Amino acid sequence: MIRFLILLTFLFSSCIKNQINTTVNIIPKPVKLNLKNGIYDLSKETKFIFDSIFTNEVEYLKSIFPFKIGNKENIIQFIKNQDLQVEEYRINILKTKITIEASSEKGAMHAIQSFRQLLPNKFYKNNASLQCLEIHDYPKFKWRGLLLDCCRHFMEKDFVKKYIDLLAFHKMNILHWHLTEDQGWRIEIDKYPLLTEIGAWRKGVDGKPYGGYYSKEDIKEIVEYARKRNIEVIPEIELPGHSVAAIASYPQFSCTGEKIEVETDWGVFKDIYCAGNDSVFTFLENILDEVIDLFPSKYIHIGGDEAPKFRWKNCNKCQKRIVENNLKDENELQSYFINRIGKYLEKNNKQLIGWDEIMEGGIPKNAIVQSWRGMAGGKLAAENSHYAIMSPTSHCYFDYDLQSIDLEKVYSFDPIPIDLEKNKHNFILGGECNMWSERAPQEKVDSKVFPRILAMSEVLWGKKENNYEDFLTRVENHYPKLEKLGVEYGYEKTPIKFKSNFSDNKFEIEIVKGNKKMEIHYQVDNGAWQAYSKPIEIFKSAKILAEERNSKRKDIAQKNLEINFHKGLGKKVEYNTNYNKNYPAIGTSSLVNGISGNDSNFRDGQWQGFYGKNVDITVDLKEKINFNELKTSFFQYHLSWILVPKSVEYLISDDGINFKSIHKIKTDVNPMKQGKFKEPFTHVQNYSARYVRVIAENYGFLPKEHPAAGSKSWLFIDEFSIK
Ligand SMILES: [Zn+2]
Repeated sequence: MIRFLILLTFLFSSCIKNQINTTVNIIPKPVKLNLKNGIYDLSKETKFIFDSIFTNEVEYLKSIFPFKIGNKENIIQFIKNQDLQVEEYRINILKTKITIEASSEKGAMHAIQSFRQLLPNKFYKNNASLQCLEIHDYPKFKWRGLLLDCCRHFMEKDFVKKYIDLLAFHKMNILHWHLTEDQGWRIEIDKYPLLTEIGAWRKGVDGKPYGGYYSKEDIKEIVEYARKRNIEVIPEIELPGHSVAAIASYPQFSCTGEKIEVETDWGVFKDIYCAGNDSVFTFLENILDEVIDLFPSKYIHIGGDEAPKFRWKNCNKCQKRIVENNLKDENELQSYFINRIGKYLEKNNKQLIGWDEIMEGGIPKNAIVQSWRGMAGGKLAAENSHYAIMSPTSHCYFDYDLQSIDLEKVYSFDPIPIDLEKNKHNFILGGECNMWSERAPQEKVDSKVFPRILAMSEVLWGKKENNYEDFLTRVENHYPKLEKLGVEYGYEKTPIKFKSNFSDNKFEIEIVKGNKKMEIHYQVDNGAWQAYSKPIEIFKSAKILAEERNSKRKDIAQKNLEINFHKGLGKKVEYNTNYNKNYPAIGTSSLVNGISGNDSNFRDGQWQGFYGKNVDITVDLKEKINFNELKTSFFQYHLSWILVPKSVEYLISDDGINFKSIHKIKTDVNPMKQGKFKEPFTHVQNYSARYVRVIAENYGFLPKEHPAAGSKSWLFIDEFSIK
């Protein structure tokens, strides 16, 4: 609250003359809004009249609006209207009276948030006016959430509260609080103090302990803070996987019983709770008892995702459980695990939510499924008359960069699977955006979540039309409000992209801006800075550095480009094998555009992917020319099934039909080599030819040491350089 009041003080002390807010700009956009003639003068003394059920909401409104409250002139009246739905509300702003109608506190809180957004961005204290208008508004989906992963990186209590305020401000109603993970246990449990003494701390990158946790008092404070804003807090206690921190604290609850460390790396880990040991269930039930006491919500999220079965396969106790319960395999053992926990929750009047993996081996009774691996899990749940929450990686993963999920993509999201029958639509409760924090410590979270959550709030509130341009305008008008609330928002789209154009023997680099209003400056080969206005002509290999100027953002966009100037630039490329449509890069000119792919990001828009087949392409140089260097590079990241080729062969021809092999390079890169890297294949010798061809041999099926052994592998290539 303190932080919030400071911001408001700032808001009210801006010495700007009386401003009337005629551009009504509310996100999410209200269902119905009519402007009317006249002005409501906020500077006059305002009297509150309200039904007693709205006491908390009126207090909240009074606490954040320091205009004069008294007994004269203007009136703000809260009216209980039983005809309205739970979250529905009406606002009517007349010249001397504002009425807010709702049937519940929830509706009244939404009205207050709309009212806050109606206030002018800048106005002088006691001298502000509102346009007369009426609003009638209600949500389409009842589940409108944000997941905060406070485990991979710990987030301070006040930061969590700031997000509760921001959720309320945008009429979201669920905070999905991810509290336990491999890399950290964040909730105090009296019965098992080691969970926070040991499990809340890992070895940080600097070697010092990194972590933190929320005490019971912290949690009560946050839950109460949320309750006052009508935000429901759903705790997530992960099981049976993502439990390394708990096992590091109490090793007796794993299959091996061996002492392990709180995890420091990101990923999926094989040590999970033992499913054959009854004391594990006692341990989890005791934890859940304390969790239940802390969170009034009807729901408890138990994770259930990404639980490797390796330990269970090699554990006598787990195998015994499978036999004794006539289970088919480890998937059914997972189902047994989840069902047993689900029953315990049900006995305690709580309902279980789990990630879509909980359906493997049968959907647990009464479970709500959160669909993340695409829409299919949610669809399957709904078809079986189970409730589902949609948060597919394609649109809802705000830890992903803008290259994969930009504002427009989030805005295009529809939580209802396209081919779900109409009579099952009501099983789709709504959606959530997920802020996983592996690569986002607290200070990065704002720029990941904003502005994308604005699109999500509008999708889930229910947009009538898919008018992105209109939405974008409102987002830009909304930024000053976010600034007042201390939000360090990011970009709408990848802010700076380079594009190469080749025409009439002219090679140019175009800078594509993520937002038309951005001001970009650039330098070539560390030369003088210039304002960018038109494509830059390039005559040789060069380095370009571009950056944004006069930005209001904290993390200013900056991007490097290394241009590889070669004889194949802009020439026609014939594909003897086709690239995969999911990784087209920029299409058929990608491999001769002079722009190389990033060393560590195969989704940067320059890497072209071939799935389960060779790369086989021919460049037509238009005439016979001399060259002395051929070079291609390939990406490897075995965890994404991308391997460098087994061999690379270069061929030449004068007629485009009869090719002569000039060089073949065999690779000796280990397919299981860790990490992401780029492997070049260069051949230097003098040649003369019109057609140059490269055949890169796909590795084939993933080797037996690979977690996905036997699946086809990918080949990723970025450029075919001919010098
Ligand atoms: Zn076991």
